[in-house]
This record gives sequence, structure tokens and C-alpha cells, in this order.
Amino acid sequence: MRKFKTESKKLLDLMINSIYTNREIFLRELISNASDAVDKLYFKSLTDDAVVIDRSELAIEVSFDKEARTITVSDNGIGMTADELEKFLGTIAHSGSEQFKGDPEVAASTEADIIGQFGVGFYSSFMVAKSVRVVSRAYGSDEASCWSSNGIEGYTISPAERATHGTDVIMTLKDSTEEEDYDAYLSEWGLKDLIRRYSNYVRYPIKMTVTKRRPIPKPEDAGEDYVQQYEDYTDVETVNSMVPIWKRRKSDVTQEDYDEFYKSDFHDFTEPARTISVHAEGALSYDALLFVPKRPPFDLYSRDYEKGLALYSSNVLIMNKCAELLPDHYMFVRGVVDSSDLTLNISRETLQHNSQLRAIANKVEKKITAELEKMRDNDREDYEAFFEHFGRALKFGIYTSYGAKSDELSGLLMFYSASKKCMVTLAEYVEAMPEGQGAIYYACGESLAHLDKLPMVKAARAKGFDVLLCTEDVDEFCFQALGRFDDREIANVAGADLDLATDEEKAAAEEASKANEGMFEKMRDMLGESVSKVVVSTRLTDVPAALTTAGPISLEMEKLLSRMPD
Ligand code: ADP
Ligand code: MG
Repeated sequence: MRKFKTESKKLLDLMINSIYTNREIFLRELISNASDAVDKLYFKSLTDDAVVIDRSELAIEVSFDKEARTITVSDNGIGMTADELEKFLGTIAHSGSEQFKGDPEVAASTEADIIGQFGVGFYSSFMVAKSVRVVSRAYGSDEASCWSSNGIEGYTISPAERATHGTDVIMTLKDSTEEEDYDAYLSEWGLKDLIRRYSNYVRYPIKMTVTKRRPIPKPEDAGEDYVQQYEDYTDVETVNSMVPIWKRRKSDVTQEDYDEFYKSDFHDFTEPARTISVHAEGALSYDALLFVPKRPPFDLYSRDYEKGLALYSSNVLIMNKCAELLPDHYMFVRGVVDSSDLTLNISRETLQHNSQLRAIANKVEKKITAELEKMRDNDREDYEAFFEHFGRALKFGIYTSYGAKSDELSGLLMFYSASKKCMVTLAEYVEAMPEGQGAIYYACGESLAHLDKLPMVKAARAKGFDVLLCTEDVDEFCFQALGRFDDREIANVAGADLDLATDEEKAAAEEASKANEGMFEKMRDMLGESVSKVVVSTRLTDVPAALTTAGPISLEMEKLLSRMPD
């Protein structure tokens, strides 16, 4: 008996004794694993000449045995070796699992949330099963192995028999209680219902052997009073629709269908914030189904995050994450592009130079921009939630494109307005600018509270000018790359050449500087190299002194740059 790794054990405990009520998703999870395994084998056959398979035979099978109280999900995909069974099922394979240990946000969230954040995966089988056996044979191997566990202490792995490559997951269901009816799953009707609801758009046939009844042909010698006789027979039926959801017209699909597809294919617990479906015909024909998530995956802003859309050619998966289809600033978008115009054996190298793919990527980008603009204009609350999670990507987009993406993205930006005490767009800022305000002002710092007290911010506000308060490190880079908005300069309110003062104020300051020349001389001597000059400022309202910078880089940005690794 091998023990589960600690974090797996924690998750298992949650699963088994779960507050998590949506038990029925176990089947979706197992089918999605089966579909992934078939995908992997198919993909191998595309890239490896030694792997020859017949695509039409790839399938998933669901069956049940009422007497033995088992449900079995089988696939003829890539399979697992004994080592892989240990590696994949002995510990949580989910990429987010590392976060499970340390992340304070995770620790604070509810248990149901935790399960959701990692996707439920294989372990969800223990929500309905008291024991699970996985019999698997890896493609290319002639040995099979069996992983077996009752979900509590650990698992065993032993040699087994399996005729061909692939995997069977055999669950022995828990006994039904007053509260929980597990027996409902032990029926043709119950399983079909789950498959249709959660796995209808799986690309491979999900087959079930079903019992049907047919009339027995009337015997020749049957008399007048013959009563029609029936017989039962079994038939293999494909339960799922298999027409990919992205090929369907938006009018034929419910939002619920989209949500289920999104959740199961992209391993998210939450419905998407927006669903975009595109059907283009003509010179370049393609279907695209795109999702703007409600919340970011844990690793979105880390090096490990891989952006991209799944790429299909006539329903066949070419690539799981085609990065070329998404610009960096929309890296959070998930989805699928399917184009029969693309050749099947397209390789990663040729992709970059593929003009059709680039054309699709351009269209996809425009669609996303349009959808975000629509959300901004019609559904402010959603948009602000969106921006809180993904605004950083948009700002980086402006910065890393050196402003080339400004026209497209600047309208989508939001910043905190010191006057209005809420998020505003740049257009809204400009709209509210009083006569005589030349530039769009912003200030950068560690916190809103800190920024609000900054002398330069106070000075600008005393003049009736709003200031955008920025607390993210990328903000200033973004503004510098942007330079202007709506033909107005964007300026750091802390910049030394800010023309906030009137002529009289300037004259008075100059006079005061001259009058106190002696004292300033002494200050300069004492501060030495640390300052370049000491002057009377027109920008202090109720504080005695302020530090400022002379160059194009603000104090805050200097701080940031000095923190960055070389
Ligand atoms: P995820 O699918 O998100 O990776 P799961 O917990 O659902 O997480 O599955 C864990 C891993 O176990 C999978 O990544 C896969 O490598 C392996 N696995 C599960 N089911 C199968 C299967 N039917 N065939 C082959 N490998 C599988
Ligand atoms: Mg899975």
C-alpha cells in the first residue's frame, strides 16, 4: 500500500466528506480525461510515423453493472504505464496544486472554492465511489497495470490484463443513503443524462451499450387474434452529439451549454464572463469560440503561463495552445479556432509564417476588443471586475508594443480617479477636465492612501484638476508608452516641469528662492550629491517640503527600476 502525498490526501478528504454538492460532475471529469488521452494518442500519430491509428476507431465507452454497483469509463487512448499511474494518480497532477500549500488567498477561501480552483479531476470519482480501479495499458507496451484505491489511506499498483492500449476507470459506487441517491447513476437513463448535459460536445463518440426493444415479425401462420410480441436486444449507441459546439450557430446553443463546455474544456469552476462566437465565411472561413474568464488562473502573470487558443482543422485538434492566435494583451482569453482552410500537418515552425493563421489572429483580436468595449459601455460592473483581474495584461500590451497598440487598447484602460474616488476611463477623465487643464495627470505610488497625501496630487487637486492614482508597477511604463490620449499629453503630476502654477505664483516663488538663496546654499551643501537643486515650489499646499525628480523618470519609477533584477 502506498500513501497519498499530503496535499492529495487533503484534497481527497475534501472530496469524500465534501460540502461540494455537485457530485454528478465526476463523469464529466473522467470523460474529459478519456478524451484527453485519446487526443494525446491521436496527436502522437500526427507527429510520429511509428504510431499508426485509425481515427474512426477512437472512442470512449461508458457502461454500468447494476449488480456489482460499478460504472466503467473506458478509452482507447494513450494509456498509462505503472510508473505513470503512480505519478499521475498518486499525487495531484493539476498545475495549480502547488498553490494549495502556501497561498493565503486559497487558505482563506471556502472548501468548495478550493476544489473548484484546481479543477476536480480524477479524484472527483471518490465523491460517488467507495473504491476505484484504473486498469491501463500504455500505447506501445504489452503490459497492463491496475491502480486501486478506496480513497482513504492510499493505493496499490499491481500487474493486470488488458487486450489493447487504453484505460478503464472502474468505480464501485457508495451505498445510497437517505440523503444521497447513488443508484440513480446505475441506469442507462441516468448516465445518458449526465453525458448529454456535461459531455455533449466531446469530440470523440461516447458509446453506451443500451438495451432496446423491438417487435418480433408476425409469424406467417399467425391467426386473427395474434398479439404483437417484442424482444429485447442490445445496441451500441453514441450518446453525445459530437458536432463541435463552435460549429453551431449562437442561436442554437444555450448559454448553459457554452458554460458547461467552457468549464469542462478549460478546467474552470466558474462560468465565463463573456462568450464570443464567430462564424466567418468567404475568402477565409473559420469558426471561433472565445471565452473571457471571470477570474484569472493562478499562474496568469507568471512565467509558466502559456497563452493560446486550441487550433482545429475540420474538427481535428492540431494544437492545444496555439500562441500565434492571441496577442499577449489578450493572453487570458480561452477558446477554440477551427478552420478547414488550414492544412493538417501544420508544424509549429510553419505556423508563424502562415498568413491565414495571422489573418485569423487579427480578426480574433478585433472581436475580443469589440466585446470588451461592449462590456465597458453596457455592463460597467462586469467590466470593472474584468479590469481588476486582467487590466494588467492590457497595460503591459501598451508598454511592450511601445505604444503601437495604443489606439486599440487605451480606450479599455481604467484608473482610479482621485476626485471621483472610483475607476474611470481615460475618455471619462478627459470629459471631466476643466477649462485650462492642459494635460492628463497621474501619480504613482504604493497605495491610494499614500498617493492621496502626496503634495503634488494635492496641488493639482487644489486647482480643480483630477489625478489618476496608480499603484501598479506597470502603470507608469504604460503611460510613458502611451504618451498622449485624445491629443492630450499624459503627465506625471510629480514631474518637475509641470506647469500647474499661474504666472504670479511662479514670480513669487522665484523671488522667495532669491531671498532665501543663503539658506538653500547651506541645504545643498549638507545634502551634497543626494540632490541636484533646492528651490521654492509652487506645488506645496499644506506640507513644508517635497522630493521630486528632474528627469523623465519619476521617483516611483526609479524606485521600481532599482528593485528590478538586471
Ligand atoms: P488533469 O486532467 O487536469 O491533468 P486529473 O486529475 O483529471 O487532472 O488527471 C490526472 C492525470 O492522470 C492526467 O493529467 C493524465 O495524465 C492521467 N490520466 C487520467 N485519466 C487518464 C486516462 N483515461 N488515460 C490516460 N491518462 C489519464
Ligand atoms: Mg482531468
